[in-house]
Amino acid sequence: MMEIRECLNKSIRDVTEERRIQEKLKFLATTDSLSGLYNRAEFMNQARRAFAWARSNNEELSLLIMDLDHFKNINDTFGHGAGDEIIREVGRIITTSFRKTDIAGRLGGEEFAVVLKNASLEDAMMVAEKFREIVARKEVIYEDQKISFTISIGVASINGNTENISDIEDVLKMADDALYKAKAKGRNCIST
Ligand code: GH3
Ligand code: MG
Ligand code: MG
Repeated sequence: MMEIRECLNKSIRDVTEERRIQEKLKFLATTDSLSGLYNRAEFMNQARRAFAWARSNNEELSLLIMDLDHFKNINDTFGHGAGDEIIREVGRIITTSFRKTDIAGRLGGEEFAVVLKNASLEDAMMVAEKFREIVARKEVIYEDQKISFTISIGVASINGNTENISDIEDVLKMADDALYKAKAKGRNCIST
């Protein structure tokens, strides 16, 4: 009798441990270790799902693409470690600045994206402008050096069943074109 109970306890422990390992593996496979945000693949999965939901429920959805300005200069001036610390800090600011329901990821390098569910272009521009200001005011201290940095943001939206936009890649392309405009306008700004 005793033996059966011990055996059962052990197998329950094994199942719990197994589940913990599975969760850990999933976290590692979907999270960008530097920023703590979703990695590109997971961001795209979740963004695709949110896009499909917005389409079929006739809801608005917005997407921001954000790219740090003159980041190559920052690396060259303060070192790659300082650049990494800024990417970490941007991850922290994104995590605390957006809603829990928003989907945030690091697309690669010094480029980030956020999907805002149920947000109009107007809403998204307000949120983007607020975020841009927070970043511009932030200072990162790295090895006794005080470093300021800025970010440019491209904004795109769908309003229910928008024509010519068939998938999330189309929205990403629109936001990317908008980001290009923000860079051309002189950086540290937002554009549609
Ligand atoms: P722009 O304002 O036009 O965006 O200029 P930029 O210098 O930011 O753009 P560019 O794409 O020329 O350079 C991006 C730089 O970001 C180059 C690369 O060394 C750096 N970078 C990319 N990924 C990382 C990273 O994980 N850590 C650090 N420290 N730097 C990175
Ligand atoms: Mg850049
Ligand atoms: Mg870039």
